[in-house]
Amino acid sequence: MTHIKNNLAQVNAQIAQACQHAHRSIDDVSLLAVSKTKPVSMIEQAYQAGQRMFGESYIQEAVEKIEQLSHLSDIHWHFIGPIQSNKTRHIAQLFSWVHSVDRAKIITRLNEQRGDQDTALNICLQVNISEEDSKSGIKVNELAELAQLTNDSPNLTLRGIMAIPKKNDGIKSFAKMQQLFHQLQAQYPSVDTLSMGMSSDMVEAISYGSTIVRVGTAIFGQRETTG
Ligand SMILES: *Cc1c(COP(=O)(O)O)cnc(C)c1O
Repeated sequence: MTHIKNNLAQVNAQIAQACQHAHRSIDDVSLLAVSKTKPVSMIEQAYQAGQRMFGESYIQEAVEKIEQLSHLSDIHWHFIGPIQSNKTRHIAQLFSWVHSVDRAKIITRLNEQRGDQDTALNICLQVNISEEDSKSGIKVNELAELAQLTNDSPNLTLRGIMAIPKKNDGIKSFAKMQQLFHQLQAQYPSVDTLSMGMSSDMVEAISYGSTIVRVGTAIFGQRETTG
């Protein structure tokens, strides 16, 4: 019953230590608890332990869990999975952040479908930084155009970029992402987010300037389904 609380404490301690090593303020790095495939009871345990940002990857699963946890009104839900264009309405309505935006059509639809909400939807563009055929995300040379489109969308706020680097390529990719992040920040004042680092590489990601680490396994344990 208490293992999620302990895991969270351990992950937060690792983040604090990584920040210290990197001479960064601990306030500059947020923990996104990735709860995909895990039951609401586990999210509630993490919530009870103080966690407020949760990440989900599968829209149908997320819709059900968000509904069931609607009484926990200060949870911030982040969508981090692949986006099908016919599923954007739920994302626009139920989430406060999307990390996995990767094409113009999705930007346009999210902007339209966010229209009736009080707050803008926070957007990170996903970059396929290791240039893997199998991975979603934009190429580096598409970033300027999609950043401009997002910035021009009144119901969206361009917050930054996200990546899932290839395993053995982590550090090179982290360095490239950090550089892209600084370039984007110089152009758009709203950009403050570099979303990278997972259970196995969050310490390295923090040393390369990550501001949100997305951690699932280290908090909730191994997932039975893949993804
Ligand atoms: C599943 C997932 C994570 C979490 O991965 P862990 O290795 O379990 O920490 C982070 N980011 C994305 C985009 C994911 O899909």
